[in-house]
Amino acid sequence: MTGAELEKEKKEILNYYRSLLRVARLSKSKEDRADIRKAFNVALDAHINMRRKSGEPYIYHPLAVAKIATEEIGLGTTAIVCALLHDTVEDTEITLEDITRLFNPKVSKIIDGLTKISGVYFDPSKSIQAENFRKMLLTLSDDVRVILIKLADRLHNMRTLGSMRRDKQLKIASETLYLYAPLAHRLGLYNIKTELEDLCLKYTHPEEYELISTKLKKTQAVRTRFISRFIHPIKTELAKQNFKLNIKGRPKSIYSIWNKMETKGVPFEEVYDIFAIRIILDSGSENEKADSWKVYSIVTDFYRPNPDRLRDWISIPKANGYESLHTTVMSPSGKWVEVQIRSNRMNEIAEKGFAAHWRYKTNQSDAGNLDLWIERISEMLENPNPDALDFMDDFKMNLFSDEIFVFTPKGELKTLPTNATSLDFAYEIHSQVGSNCIGAKVNYKLVPLSHQLKSGDQVEIITSKKQKPKEDWLKFVLTGKAKSSIKSALKEDKKKVASLGKGILERKLSSLNFHVNQHNLMKLFTFYKLKSELDLMYNIGLKKIDLSQIKKLKREGPNIIYHPRKKPTKGKEKKEITTSSGKVGLQILGGDFHGVDYKLSSCCNPIPGDDVFGFITKHEGLKIHRTKCPNAIEMMSNFAYRIVQAKWTNSESIAFLVGIHFKGIDRLGIINNITKIISAELNVNMRSISFDTDDGIFEGKIMAFVNDTSHLDSLVKKLKKVDGVLAVSRIDTSSLP
Ligand code: MN
Repeated sequence: MTGAELEKEKKEILNYYRSLLRVARLSKSKEDRADIRKAFNVALDAHINMRRKSGEPYIYHPLAVAKIATEEIGLGTTAIVCALLHDTVEDTEITLEDITRLFNPKVSKIIDGLTKISGVYFDPSKSIQAENFRKMLLTLSDDVRVILIKLADRLHNMRTLGSMRRDKQLKIASETLYLYAPLAHRLGLYNIKTELEDLCLKYTHPEEYELISTKLKKTQAVRTRFISRFIHPIKTELAKQNFKLNIKGRPKSIYSIWNKMETKGVPFEEVYDIFAIRIILDSGSENEKADSWKVYSIVTDFYRPNPDRLRDWISIPKANGYESLHTTVMSPSGKWVEVQIRSNRMNEIAEKGFAAHWRYKTNQSDAGNLDLWIERISEMLENPNPDALDFMDDFKMNLFSDEIFVFTPKGELKTLPTNATSLDFAYEIHSQVGSNCIGAKVNYKLVPLSHQLKSGDQVEIITSKKQKPKEDWLKFVLTGKAKSSIKSALKEDKKKVASLGKGILERKLSSLNFHVNQHNLMKLFTFYKLKSELDLMYNIGLKKIDLSQIKKLKREGPNIIYHPRKKPTKGKEKKEITTSSGKVGLQILGGDFHGVDYKLSSCCNPIPGDDVFGFITKHEGLKIHRTKCPNAIEMMSNFAYRIVQAKWTNSESIAFLVGIHFKGIDRLGIINNITKIISAELNVNMRSISFDTDDGIFEGKIMAFVNDTSHLDSLVKKLKKVDGVLAVSRIDTSSLP
């Protein structure tokens, strides 16, 4: 290269650097600019003699990665600095100590993570789940910016994949498709995910990619015409009503068209014109929800919606933070068109992920709120389908950021929460292995059951058939799986002891001429200050209870009379449930129920005003059910002696969740009318709404908060008056979430 050429190259690099500064959302602070300048100089110097496969100076790569990180992901100064330096420790003379000395500890921690991650090798042809690998990548990165910069790095490598060797292209592309595109998706970075997928297709299926992209270009004009015709009436009406907005019509990505053609076996012509119209409102956060629904109402005034396809992610955002209102409407030519309605803020979250969200909240991109963001990300990475887990409560603490990865003797990867013990690992393998566990070998060294594991440990479990779960195991296991296994084994044990106790107690009661009945048993467990019949029997079985006290109790024939001292005793007592919004009272009639706690049963969710009764359960005290409860008949016929009368005494402004089911004839705008009544007219707080339609008949379900039955009745009455609605009823089943 001649001197003049080198001079020119230097100028171009500086120009590129300046373009990075222009797109960066920098604070006014001089330190930020100085840090970026310093990082640029360090990287420029370190990579000075390196060139990329394309022949261009290497520094273009870190510059491009920094630009993606700030422009397309929305990250701030620290991330820009790290992106500029991201390949220095791995590929040049620069050490992590140099970085620590020159920059702050945060920067060196992120660079360390990036260097570690590049050592993780993923082979999609091996059967180890990509999901676990994705998690491992995230665990190696203490700071979520590590993964975001890695994604920017990968995106630039994909954009410049053309100059690589064919076999490398395929390897990098498939790794991207299995690992990084799904990761980008989970983090809410939709644009990056789409571009990564399109680029993967370009290299793995070049002909198909060319074919689809050429056809898309050719059909562009038809699509544009259709879109502008479609949005014209909506646009005019919205302008009349003074909405500020931006309407976009955008085709599906090449990859998603290809994917549809492949999976459904249909030709391009059947999928190419599927696209979404996006209406982006310029509304502040106070009005954005109401405005979105107003726009929805205007859109459906022009085009008939498919009620089946209404998606309200504004009231209930997706786990990764996505907020938007989606509906699918019929165009005049008979084609279904998806319309997405959202505010500017929601749109930025949709395109850039949560980084955008926090910038909106704090007006600075790099602040401490990042912690909150990481927390949200951790939550959503934890498990895409928590419904599958029946030990949700225990599981909640297993936050993703706190995971470790350990291996079986055969090299199989297991994921556990941080501070998990060898016993957790045993239960992770199988509940039987857990129950019989007497010890473990960690990295070939013998350790106790309570030994805390670390990432990378290899664990072998030692079992004995004589071993069985112990109460104190619960003190050092962390996973929901281990806890619930141990608890259920202990419960089995408890039942055996309790049945022994039951025999002893029955003999004792008979010898004193007391009846063995519900009334007396309840008096006894209250007297011994225990929670349930089972506890009573269990403690007798363990011989922990002094049964000689029973004969000192007052009696009325074969019945025990006993009132705990706490409160003055009369035949009736009022209990109060207190919530943040008010109080509600319940009166239990007949018998003595002092000191007995009650709960509202979850199978029928009684609300004030409902006809209710009390049911004395074996383990959970008194439960209140609606007389219409689906389980009521069974309870009343089989356990009449456990039923007590109950009635409400008052109710104030407390809200109860109810489900309302309705049915009717599908007509234009009916959903709109219904939602208007619920949210606007009665000021009821709606929690969710869903509709189904079949052959002109629609059915829907609304979950909403009401104060009591009269509030509910007036709501039902109003809904019944809606033109087209045929039936409205409260949902009686236990399907309330
Ligand atoms: Mn790189």
